[in-house]
Amino acid sequence: MQTSFTLAQLADPDIAEADKILRACVHCGFCTATCPTYVMLGDELDSPRGRIYLIKDMLENDRPATADVATHIDRCLSCLSCMTTCPSGVHYMHLVDHARAHVHETYRRPPLDRAMRAFVARVMPDPKLFRWSLLGAFFAKPLAPVLDFFGLDRLAAMLRLAPATFPPRGERGPRVVPAQGARRGRVALLTGCAASVLTPEINAAATRVLTRHGIEVVLAKGEGCCGALVHHMGRRDDALASARANVDAWMREIRGAGLDSILVTASGCGTMIKDYGHMLRGDPQYAESAKTVSVLARDVSEYISQINVLSARSGPPMVVAYQAPCSLQHGQKITRQPKEMLSKSGFVVKDVPDGHLCCGSAGTYNVLQPQLARALRDRKIANIAKVAPDVIAAGNVGCITQIAAGTEIPVVHPIELIDWATGGPMPGALRRPGNTV
Ligand code: SF4
Ligand code: SF4
Repeated sequence: MQTSFTLAQLADPDIAEADKILRACVHCGFCTATCPTYVMLGDELDSPRGRIYLIKDMLENDRPATADVATHIDRCLSCLSCMTTCPSGVHYMHLVDHARAHVHETYRRPPLDRAMRAFVARVMPDPKLFRWSLLGAFFAKPLAPVLDFFGLDRLAAMLRLAPATFPPRGERGPRVVPAQGARRGRVALLTGCAASVLTPEINAAATRVLTRHGIEVVLAKGEGCCGALVHHMGRRDDALASARANVDAWMREIRGAGLDSILVTASGCGTMIKDYGHMLRGDPQYAESAKTVSVLARDVSEYISQINVLSARSGPPMVVAYQAPCSLQHGQKITRQPKEMLSKSGFVVKDVPDGHLCCGSAGTYNVLQPQLARALRDRKIANIAKVAPDVIAAGNVGCITQIAAGTEIPVVHPIELIDWATGGPMPGALRRPGNTV
């Protein structure tokens, strides 16, 4: 694609990056077929190619975002399915990240939209505030239809997404969990933000699996939200502040007792941390450290596959529908490892038809775009039902929350099943009353 940025515009490294990405696009349109919003809405402007044109036009003319541009960019899930499909290697993720920041900085949203976004950006990355808001949502859940009636569909979506039972408080705070037996490795595990409140059992299971197999686990002092939630809302400075805080926390460990890897159990966060090197490339104080952190970042399934500690066993005779999170399959290109880990542990693993399409979770998308998110979730659940699973496994808290809100089939993280198969407790979702597994 030809571009016409001026030399003055190209002096801005972000514009120079956008220019490089735009030039790679040959507008073949292959990406449209695998874009969930194009599949659902059939509008070219809600396809990757259409958005690329909108972004090009906005950036080349140095124009503030219009309401129309904001609408089409907002509807993008950042699922990155288009990147998997694109034959020309267009780095859509970096392009849309830049566009979201431009929208945030140049477009004044309607007051209700602004208030909602400010609330989500303040509450979700803060575990304390998020826990309180979850408590409120838990009791207000029955009011969701009333909010819908008054057109407050985003608030209604928040209530519907709140778990049916209030999550137990997990063990919090920095600590080191020693390896059982001879130590064969030392890793940091991201505690993060919303995941630590919604599903503390996932990191607890990961810690048990790792320490059981000789890996020391560090929960580093000072780490917190990876920044993805605010990054996807275009709040670049907030996202960079989170990234810097995490880089500082892990570099202290790297320079101290050392780390083999930095593990993440929520693939949305993993994709973000693997991008810290790019995000902070222009910051002389952080560029090198951020690159080090990104190089060490691993999804937990990737690490377990890499160190090859699981031995083949016959596990519970259960059919697991493997729901591949977009951030894992498209963002990190990890497709094989979670399924291999489950098969090796004795589970019967089935792929979900149309598995490349997002479940509609996508960070804060299911709150900010509730109708589209719900349609995608229903489509996903219908596809999952085709493989008649006993349990659904997804390596991302967002997918787990989104899918669990629409089905009675238990939804767990793969690492919880591995923990169970290697001597840990049965996952909580399988122990729910009425569950016959
Ligand atoms: S598939 Fe790639 S090259 Fe083709 S239109 Fe989409 S982004 Fe552009
Ligand atoms: S990231 Fe997903 S929703 Fe956005 S344009 Fe690409 S395929 Fe479509």
